[in-house]
Amino acid sequence: MEERKMMKALRLNAPNDFEVTEVPVPVAGESEVLCKVESVSICGTDPHIIKGEFPGVWPQEFPLIPGHEWAGTVVELGDKAADFGWKVGDRVCGIANLGCGHCKNCMEGRFTICLNYGKPRIHKMYGHISQGAYAEYMAVNIRAISKIPDYMDFDVACQMDTMSIAMHMIERSNFEVGDDVLVSGAGPQGMMSVIIFKAMGARNVYCAGSGVRLKKCEELGAIPIDYTKEDVAETIMKYTNGAGVKRVVECTGTAKGVYASCWSVARGGAIATVGFPAGDVPMPVRHLVMDEISFNGSRANPNTLDKAIVIASQHLDDVKNLVTHVFPLTEYPKAYEVFTKRLDNSIRVVVKP
Ligand SMILES: [Zn+2]
Ligand SMILES: [Zn+2]
Repeated sequence: MEERKMMKALRLNAPNDFEVTEVPVPVAGESEVLCKVESVSICGTDPHIIKGEFPGVWPQEFPLIPGHEWAGTVVELGDKAADFGWKVGDRVCGIANLGCGHCKNCMEGRFTICLNYGKPRIHKMYGHISQGAYAEYMAVNIRAISKIPDYMDFDVACQMDTMSIAMHMIERSNFEVGDDVLVSGAGPQGMMSVIIFKAMGARNVYCAGSGVRLKKCEELGAIPIDYTKEDVAETIMKYTNGAGVKRVVECTGTAKGVYASCWSVARGGAIATVGFPAGDVPMPVRHLVMDEISFNGSRANPNTLDKAIVIASQHLDDVKNLVTHVFPLTEYPKAYEVFTKRLDNSIRVVVKP
């Protein structure tokens, strides 16, 4: 029997029990490539997965190699990858979701709401259900990666999963050039949204948040609203002469953020949300009905990865500046602490396998 090579990987053995250890290098299957992982960004979802907050779902079973916001280089081609134009040496970045490719939603391009979600033989979600990127190598389906330009470094490229989620949310808000917009929440999704809205020709980009993160959004071109000091909806109405903003992207996942979004949006406008409240939150439904306001859920990043790469490639410094810390994978516990405790004003924390 051929001896399998070993690699370093972060293995989650049980909730809150993780270690950097040696595991076999995966094999690229049909329509897959094996990638040398160069950079992985810690996602806000990772700590929830690590703490075991989605039992039986993310992951369905232990152990799991988490990590899904990654970039790297193709080193081996599985069967058929070459037929689709992939080459050894291609520089790529990846996303978490891989739909089954065959259900009605996947056929319509809405693969993040695949109807076969969570069936491990036909559906994958890297770093959540399927083996992920906190490893030296990763086998990944070619539908879950895109090429990146030569001049985009891997620490920027591994931000593209997040950025393409913001891009999808903005599309779900039905944004059009010249719209006034509110970014509700100044975390990474909010920051990415500010970059994209500015690049796509929003008129005024307001951002509600607080502290250094709001300051960062202001540096990126947003008009800041400190929700700890002023009422967000009232301030928006003041700025817009009572009209409200045409589009809101909701990234706080709090009842307060949702409520402020509902009362900041203009008649006939739309709210799109990636915010993920812990439970149900009250909404002013009469107002949404009477003013024909759309409230659109937005899940992950179907077909927006290439768009995010284009925006980022034209705003490299803005994206790069969000990466505040870089650690080797072997120091994952330290990286995890810096990220979860927001030590040293951390925003995006990258690990290098
Ligand atoms: Zn993520
Ligand atoms: Zn599907």
